[in-house]
Amino acid sequence: MSNGAFPLITDLPVAIVGAGPVGLTTALALSYYEIPFIVLEANADHSTETKAGTTLTRTLEIWQRFGAAGAVLRRAMRVDEIGDIERATNRSRNTIKLHLLGDETRFPFVANIPQYDMEPALRDCLYGSRQGKLLYRHRLTSFTQYSDKVKLEVETPDGARTFAACYLLGCDGGRSTVRDRLGVSVEGRSMPERYALVDLNVDLDIENPRDYPHLAYFSDAKEWMILVRQPKCWRFLYPVFEGQKEFTIDELREKAVHFIGDVQNVEVLGTNLFNIHHRVASKWRVGRVLLLGDAAHLITPMWALGLNTGILDANNLAWRVAWVLRGWANDTLFDCYEREQKPVAEQGSGEMAEAARAYMARRAADVKAMSSHAWGNAYTRSLLGVRLGLDQTGDWSMAKPYAEPPPVVVGDRAPDGLVHDSNGHQVRLHDLFGHSFVALYFTDVRRRPDIPENKFPWLTHYAVSRWDATRDSPIRERALLDSGNLITQRYGCAANTMVLVRPDDHIAAIEPMTPSLAETAYRAALSIPRREAVPA
Ligand SMILES: Cc1cc2nc3c(=O)[nH]c(=O)nc-3n(C[C@H](O)[C@H](O)[C@H](O)COP(=O)(O)OP(=O)(O)OC[C@H]3O[C@@H](n4cnc5c(N)ncnc54)[C@H](O)[C@@H]3O)c2cc1C
Repeated sequence: MSNGAFPLITDLPVAIVGAGPVGLTTALALSYYEIPFIVLEANADHSTETKAGTTLTRTLEIWQRFGAAGAVLRRAMRVDEIGDIERATNRSRNTIKLHLLGDETRFPFVANIPQYDMEPALRDCLYGSRQGKLLYRHRLTSFTQYSDKVKLEVETPDGARTFAACYLLGCDGGRSTVRDRLGVSVEGRSMPERYALVDLNVDLDIENPRDYPHLAYFSDAKEWMILVRQPKCWRFLYPVFEGQKEFTIDELREKAVHFIGDVQNVEVLGTNLFNIHHRVASKWRVGRVLLLGDAAHLITPMWALGLNTGILDANNLAWRVAWVLRGWANDTLFDCYEREQKPVAEQGSGEMAEAARAYMARRAADVKAMSSHAWGNAYTRSLLGVRLGLDQTGDWSMAKPYAEPPPVVVGDRAPDGLVHDSNGHQVRLHDLFGHSFVALYFTDVRRRPDIPENKFPWLTHYAVSRWDATRDSPIRERALLDSGNLITQRYGCAANTMVLVRPDDHIAAIEPMTPSLAETAYRAALSIPRREAVPA
C-alpha cells in the first residue's frame, strides 16, 4: 500500500515516538519519501525550555532537503563567523570563517535559533504532509514486537490506546522510554560540573552598541563563557564547577553585565542550570525498533553537537526506511545505521565536544578538530566534514584538518556545487541527490562515454563535463555542464571516474568507469555486510 508514487510492502505506518527536533525531522524525512507515519508526543505542546541554540550548516542542508530550512531560517539569526576568543585578553584565536564554505554549500553560515522556536517551525512544515499526523498527549508506555509489526501501548487523555506500526523509531530524548523498554544500557559518563545559562533582553545594537560576534566561545582557565545572540535575546553560558554553589538569577545577570559593561535596560528573560553527559546507547537497533537523537546519545552541549548529531541520525536512517518499505532492500539495511552513526556520536561528536571543553578551559592548547587551517576548521565545525565508515574499515572521521578541499573519498558528504543542465538551468548538485542513489560520471562527453539510461527510480545517472554534449548525443539529457571544471576539480577524481552518491549525500563508491559499474556499486552499497536482493 502507499498513497505515494511507490507501492509499499506494508499497510502499517512507521511510529515515531517523540516530537523533539529529531522526531520532527524524521517525520519530515519520511514525508519526503512518501512513507506513512504517526508521531506520538507525550506533552500537550512543544517544550518552552531553553535548550539548543545553534544549528550547524549540515543540519540546514538536511532541513533544506526535507522542506524545513526556510521556515527555520525565517525565525533565526544567521552567523557567518564563530568567535574563538581568549577571555582574559579578548584576543581572537582560531575564528571560524564560514564564508570559506561558499563554494561548498548553499548555507555558508550557521543559524542561531532557540529550540522553542525551532520545534514549532519544524512542526508547521509537517502540517502540509499527506503522509501522517502528529498526536500530542500520546505517551508511549510499552510495546511488543512481532515478526511483521510492533504494537504500541499509549496513554492519552481519553484512556489507553493501542497502535500498530511496521517500525518504531525512538526519538524520545535522553530519558527514552523506548530505550528503557528495550533493556538497552547507556555507556559513558556524566560530568561533575554543570552549565548555567542566562538569556538577557538588552539592546547591544543601538542603545548600547557592542561588536561581539553573534556566536563566540571565550576560553579561560578560571571561567570560560559562551555568548550566543539569539533572535530575541543575548545568551551567556558559564560552567558551574563541582561543589560550586549554583548562581542566583541576580548573580548571572551581574556576571553578564560585568562583561558587557555599563548598559541601560537589562532584563533577565530566563535561566537554566543543567547537567551534562557523554553517554551512548550500547545498541541502536533491536528488531523493528531503532533509536535516534538523544535517545541514542547524550553529548555535552559544546560546539553545538547534541541536536545537530541527532539530525545526522535522521538523515542516515530515513532513506533506509524508504528502501526497505518499497521492497528495494532487505531490512538488514538497517544494520549499517548503527555501524555508521554510533562512532560519529561516541568518538566523533562526543570526543569533539570533550576536546572543546578542554580547549575552552585552557586544559588543552589545541585540539584535533581545530587545525591551523581556516578552511578545514570551517568545514569541520559546520559538520560538513563528517565522513561515515561505509566500507567497514573503521575509517571514518569528523574533522577535515586541511588548508584546501581534499579529493573526496568514500564515506564523505558529497560536496555541493553548481552545474548547468541541458536546458541551461543552474542546478545544485544536492538538489539532484535525495530521491535516489546518483552516479556522477566525471568524463568528457565529447567522446560519447557509455552512460546508462535512467531506467530505475533507485539509481540515476549523470555525466559531469566541462564540454557540452552535442544535440544528437544520446546522453545530452543526462549531461551536466561543469563550467570551468570546478566541480570536477573539487571532487578531485581522475578522468572517467564514477562517484556513487547515496540519498543521504554520502559517497558510497568511487571507481574507474566501466559498463554497468554503477548498478554493481549500488547493489554493493545496499548489501554491506551481506549481499541483499535488489529488484532486477
Ligand atoms: C541548555 C542546553 C543547550 C543546548 N544547546 C545545544 C546546541 O546549541 N546545539 C545542539 O546541537 N544541541 C544542543 N543541546 C542539546 C539538544 O537540546 C538535544 O540534543 C536535543 O533536544 C535532542 O533532540 P531529541 O529530539 O533527540 O530529544 P528531545 O528534544 O529530548 O525530544 C524528545 C521528545 O520526546 C518526547 N517524549 C519523551 N518520552 C516520551 C514518551 N514516552 N512518549 C511520547 N513522547 C515522549 C518528549 O516530550 C520530547 O518532546 C542543548 C541542550 C541543552 C539542555
